[in-house]
Amino acid sequence: MNYFPIFFDLKGQRVLVVGGGEVALRKVTLLERCGAIITVVAPEIAPELMERAARGVLAATVREFEPDDLEGARLVIVATSRRALNRWIATLSEARAIPVNVVDDKDASRFIVPAIVDRDPVIVAISTGGTSPVLARRLRERLEAYIPKRFGDFALWLKGLRQTSMDKLRDTQERRRFFESLVDGPASTRFIDGDARGALRIAQQLLATTANAPRAAGEVALVGAGPGDPELLTLKALRALQDADVILHDRLVSSAILDMARRDAALVCVGKSAGGQSTAQQEINDLLIRHATEGKRVVRLKGGDPFIFGRGGEELEALARARINFSVIPGITAAIGIAAYAGIPLTHRDHAHSVSFVTGHADRSGKEPDWRALAAPGATAVFYMGLGRLDHIVRELIRAGATAGRPAALVSQGTLPEQRVLTATLGTLSAVAARAALESPTLLIVGDVVALHSTLAWFSATVATDVSQSA
Ligand code: SAH
Repeated sequence: MNYFPIFFDLKGQRVLVVGGGEVALRKVTLLERCGAIITVVAPEIAPELMERAARGVLAATVREFEPDDLEGARLVIVATSRRALNRWIATLSEARAIPVNVVDDKDASRFIVPAIVDRDPVIVAISTGGTSPVLARRLRERLEAYIPKRFGDFALWLKGLRQTSMDKLRDTQERRRFFESLVDGPASTRFIDGDARGALRIAQQLLATTANAPRAAGEVALVGAGPGDPELLTLKALRALQDADVILHDRLVSSAILDMARRDAALVCVGKSAGGQSTAQQEINDLLIRHATEGKRVVRLKGGDPFIFGRGGEELEALARARINFSVIPGITAAIGIAAYAGIPLTHRDHAHSVSFVTGHADRSGKEPDWRALAAPGATAVFYMGLGRLDHIVRELIRAGATAGRPAALVSQGTLPEQRVLTATLGTLSAVAARAALESPTLLIVGDVVALHSTLAWFSATVATDVSQSA
């Protein structure tokens, strides 16, 4: 990060603005709203600014800037049209450790001023770190359209309910849920549509029911995080992540996804990566039950879909026995996500009529899959956790009647920028895999549909970032 994002309290603080034109006027208008004590210095000052000086809103000094003007300033904004002068003032400010912004000259600036979406007291500040003003502007436009005009009033209204909620509700957890219901539910729509009375009625009802209800029971949501690309998360999963008090996640879940959790949620990694250290299943079950019994909202976050080789079923059985409320939010399982990103349709009218998801791990009882069905013509077989037993899988498929020429693909780190797709045939697969030294996780797809990859591949892992050089 090139800049540290902050909001600066300027109430009663001296701010020096050098320059008296249009740009200075814009800055002054914002500074005024923050309660800053403003001095404008310039040999010529626009009438609007002079008028404000006459009203006592700011002090206007009509002359050239002098170094002593910096005395006592907490912030300096330089907006003259003379670049050398601007830079000189910036240097002087720097020497005095006063944060300085030179309009349109980020190299000379200690801080830059973001584009804002203004729903005072809600302010959204946007910065592209000076890389692209156009991008910042577009983003601002989108947010302007997205955030209702009365959003700031709504924030103030919520603030007004804070004391009442403290008087009526038992603890911070309960209060947070009350406010979430207001923000997520019909009260917010009412308020934003202009019906403040209706909103208040809802709030009062909610307050009464929450205060009289027995302490909210904890619950567990078993959530699928998808195969890797954070954008493959469902909207429901995103909501669950933002509402959770505790998140118990597998190692397979990327940090980009965990970043979407509420800032003060407790994140607990309970392992489960092939081969690595992991928490015992019994211990995970106990943790889930303990947190939920304490009244917390728990998310059990698993890679892909929780019901596909995720042992989600076993965890829910334990919760059911302990009479804990639970729900399940499906995710895009590795086979589905990777088939899409590798351009391998799992079924196809001309090539495949069925698809099976198979674990490459040996069954606990030593039972083998139905190799005949997996080897049949027109069948697609997707093997999870298959890398360790690749030779065995190939041998069994061939023994069950698959030809050595049947196409197969290994996809590692699918749907992520690091995705690698290796195509081969059953005959060459082991040698290809041995040469490639694949990173886990890796998925194996066997079937005629794999041949379509050469025409349908679209997701390129490597992105050329240096546009200037490739142009
Ligand atoms: N519940 C998960 C699967 C867990 S088993 C799901 O529905 O996807 C773990 C196996 O999934 C790994 O060994 C690998 O075979 C596969 N897998 C998961 N994510 C993957 C990814 N991004 N790329 C390739 N394989 C993946």
